[in-house]
Amino acid sequence: MKKNDSNIKKAIKYLNNNECIGIPTETVYGLAGNAYSDKAVSRVYKLKRRPRNNPLIAHYYSINSLKKDCEIDNTFIKLYKKFCPGPISFVLKLKKKSRVSKIITNNSNSVAVRFPSHSLTRKLLKKINYPLAAPSANISAGISPVSKQDVVDEFGPKLKFILDGGPSKIGLESTIINLIGKPHILRLGGINSKLIYKIINQLENKNKKKIKIKVPGTSKLHYSPGIPVRLNAKKNYQNEAYILIKKRKKLDKNYFYISKTNNLKQAAKNLYKTLRIIKKKGYKKIAIENIPNINIGEAINDRILRASKK
Ligand code: AMP
Ligand code: MG
Repeated sequence: MKKNDSNIKKAIKYLNNNECIGIPTETVYGLAGNAYSDKAVSRVYKLKRRPRNNPLIAHYYSINSLKKDCEIDNTFIKLYKKFCPGPISFVLKLKKKSRVSKIITNNSNSVAVRFPSHSLTRKLLKKINYPLAAPSANISAGISPVSKQDVVDEFGPKLKFILDGGPSKIGLESTIINLIGKPHILRLGGINSKLIYKIINQLENKNKKKIKIKVPGTSKLHYSPGIPVRLNAKKNYQNEAYILIKKRKKLDKNYFYISKTNNLKQAAKNLYKTLRIIKKKGYKKIAIENIPNINIGEAINDRILRASKK
């Protein structure tokens, strides 16, 4: 406990100096900097080699800290009460007097915000008086990190401090929902999309127009292990790593289980970790068996489909 407190103190010191640090969240680890500081967020882009036109999500402690920066409505409040803190990000309109760095919004008048539930990061957010801009803590377009070691593997000594919060519980990035205009999901993620639409449909005026915005993180090649990925594979070929979700009778050194019991939550948690292990072992190809397209299986399929694009 004491160790956590002293680590949080250290984290704050770095952040107050406009440095970026690694932080744990329930989805994946983030590369965090003061979202009000152009200097800090520029460092995040540089270290991650993220294209400047790809905006960052701002992480807040609570709705109270958010109100100064963003416009909110009833739909937001309802979704916030139901799912936050948790794995959901909202695209909202910025207030004119917002202090959020224009760099993380790609100079637009909207911003994506989230309230992570990881207890260490919540403690940290409570103690600082600015939100944290935090994309996933990996080099742009690669696999998101789900442990402190993954973040070390990404940045080495270039990243001076990582707050260690153990393995990420969910293991996939947040669901992103655009609440400007007619609400709609931009990226599938940690929360079942049906649950979200159920709430939206109860509250929203059906005539609202859908406002299209670009989400670079949903571009074709993303979440990529850097080697070919074959989907819906019924068997594996020679020298191909085979990711499975159900236990097979046969033993094969090329089998990698993300679950043995068709458990989708467990599969989501293990997916990125397993992709990293396969890469480290030097495989040149990956096959993945069919993943049921229900609940968080939708988000798993979304990520592996992008990972499979060349
Ligand atoms: P990452 O932080 O790496 O999980 O990626 C965050 C995702 O959120 C990226 O796909 C961004 O394009 C998307 N995003 C962040 N801010 C905004 C925004 N203001 N509008 C739309 N998408 C956003
Ligand atoms: Mg990312």
